[in-house]
Amino acid sequence: MKILSVNAGSSSLKFTLFEMPAGEELISGTFERIGINNSFYSIKLNGEKIKKEVELDNHKTAVKYLIDELLTNKIIVSLEELEGIGHRVLNGGEYNKSIIIDDEFLNVFPNYFELAPLHNPVNMVGIEVFKEYLPNTLMTAVFDTSFHQTMKKTEYLYATPYEWYENYGVRKYGYHGTSHRYVDLTIREHLGQNDLKVITCHLGNGSSITAINSKGEVVDTSMGFTPLVGLIMGTRTGDIDASIIPYIMKKENKTVDEVMNDLNKKSGFLGISGVSSDSRDIENGAEEGNELCDLTQKMAARRVANYVAMYNNLLEGSDVICFTAGIGENSALTRQMVIDNLKSLGVKIDPQLNDVRGKFRKISTEDSKIMVYIVPTNEELMIAKDTYELVTKE
Ligand code: ADP
Repeated sequence: MKILSVNAGSSSLKFTLFEMPAGEELISGTFERIGINNSFYSIKLNGEKIKKEVELDNHKTAVKYLIDELLTNKIIVSLEELEGIGHRVLNGGEYNKSIIIDDEFLNVFPNYFELAPLHNPVNMVGIEVFKEYLPNTLMTAVFDTSFHQTMKKTEYLYATPYEWYENYGVRKYGYHGTSHRYVDLTIREHLGQNDLKVITCHLGNGSSITAINSKGEVVDTSMGFTPLVGLIMGTRTGDIDASIIPYIMKKENKTVDEVMNDLNKKSGFLGISGVSSDSRDIENGAEEGNELCDLTQKMAARRVANYVAMYNNLLEGSDVICFTAGIGENSALTRQMVIDNLKSLGVKIDPQLNDVRGKFRKISTEDSKIMVYIVPTNEELMIAKDTYELVTKE
């Protein structure tokens, strides 16, 4: 059964087509600079990557090219072969699992736009465009937030006036849930043990950490009401004191939107180092003696370690720490620096085992008190799996 996994962004659209339930990737691709000049798309097929420069004035045009590619490459003979389309949706409020998109959801979902103004409306555009071309194909919404819905009020509430939660939904939602869930399921399956307590560290451009109890339920996660808080990220601050916002508004004569833009787009690795949001540039800078790059690395690693220590306490001890996403999978230095900051927990990794990129591997020593693994994430496959399950249940 062929299932398409879709991630629509404001100027991009990513897709992967899977043969399910095998999880075999048939074709994948990204449309970029949609609605902007110099738009193009690239597709990966049979291990080859092809780039095509085309005009993409909107998402509808992108989906038309996508369908053409599937047909001309004979991956499908007719559109009926696509039996399910799973859409990544950023914030699903208090939905606690992936759902089939029906009229009720389409009516309710605009109420959630305000919770993620940059993502939710464009996720809806993705859904609508696919509906135009494939009105009878079953579609699902797979939320970044739903895995975190097992958090209790003790974790998800902020100590703000309670009415803010009741009236406006001010609470921690948590993000990257699809990735944390994939990593958690993968490590449980690998170790053949279901009662594990797991701390998943998704370290990429955006980063978050999740504490998962022995029942596989999220107890806490580091992102919050929005994906701005928690760890230090490529361009996002992570945790800061909210009073900084009005203070800088006055000092720099800025609007709240301008300061929020600074916190979202000009902070984190980029903000501290002044060099780049990309961890590779930061690593290179530090190696060449740039003190601010060195500081960025130290601050970021320490923040990760502090969250791990806090979650280890929350879980009353943990069995496995997993590293995933661009930095977590690829940066041996980041992993080493994080673990070096966790001496109080007796976690140890073997530098030789840690000297690897993008591979599933145990990197902790035999005498480490907590096992440490690299677990490459696959959010697209998780979306396809959820969609496959919902399609076959129908
Ligand atoms: P996104 O949140 O956009 O999905 P990714 O998970 O792809 O982000 O992570 C992007 C980050 O991963 C960047 O900071 C990049 O430097 C880092 N990264 C990717 N590959 C490597 C690598 N080989 N070595 C070190 N860092 C890497």
